[in-house]
Amino acid sequence: MRASNGVHHISGAERIVSADNISITVQELIVRARKTLVAPEHIEVKIDAIGALQVRLLTSLDIVTLNAPDKRTGRAVASHVLGQCGVSRKSIEEAIHLLSNGAASSGGSMRGAIIMDAQSAERLETDQDRGVRASRFDWSEDAFTSINQKLSDIGLTHFRTREALALATKVAHAPGIIGELCWSDDPDYTAGYVASLKTGYVRISVLKDRDIPRGGRVFFVDRTKLDMDALVHYLQNEPVLITDTGNCRLEREP
Ligand code: AMP
Repeated sequence: MRASNGVHHISGAERIVSADNISITVQELIVRARKTLVAPEHIEVKIDAIGALQVRLLTSLDIVTLNAPDKRTGRAVASHVLGQCGVSRKSIEEAIHLLSNGAASSGGSMRGAIIMDAQSAERLETDQDRGVRASRFDWSEDAFTSINQKLSDIGLTHFRTREALALATKVAHAPGIIGELCWSDDPDYTAGYVASLKTGYVRISVLKDRDIPRGGRVFFVDRTKLDMDALVHYLQNEPVLITDTGNCRLEREP
């Protein structure tokens, strides 16, 4: 599902369901699209048959949450974790600069993610307004129940966390990706995360100030191992179902 106002992306969501559940899921997605602060002028729901494509089964990344008192501390923590993933200082600074200032060429947020060389900070996505969107991922019914329980046990009840964790799990397994940085463009939502196979999903409570409508995602790649066509194909087309859940735990203040 994708909701927009003119060229401005408002929200999006991904589901993988059985044929029997298509109608109910479309209704849920429309309710979801209309729940935003700004009413969308355009809602698009696209339905594709997965057909003979192999569905990859994954376990969700382990989650750890860190409470940062302010944006400065939150971003310092994010930078540290990205450094552990092998992202250079230059690329970390450029990614934070782009997400803070509006990464699309129009100056606003992008619909998809930036693909950035983790060493040189060069942007590699061909369309710098749209970016690359990860698609075709969801939780199995059992994993959905399990992750809701585990997240609420550590006080995380917002649907955004569950959806972001699913996306980050698919992205972390992408060929060539070594880490991801995200914070939302929702003005009310200040949390964000760094995720990778190495660090798991590190949720940081504050990565931007309230009332700021800019955010986005940066997927950092190891250029020496990158096959861009294979990466984009995996992100956009290969279906991933999360059938098992990782650990979820609270950590001290940074
Ligand atoms: P959200 O977490 O929905 O607030 O999205 C924050 C930003 O992440 C958006 O403005 C997009 O730039 C990016 N984004 C959202 N969904 C996706 C996706 N499925 N794949 C890649 N990037 C995305």
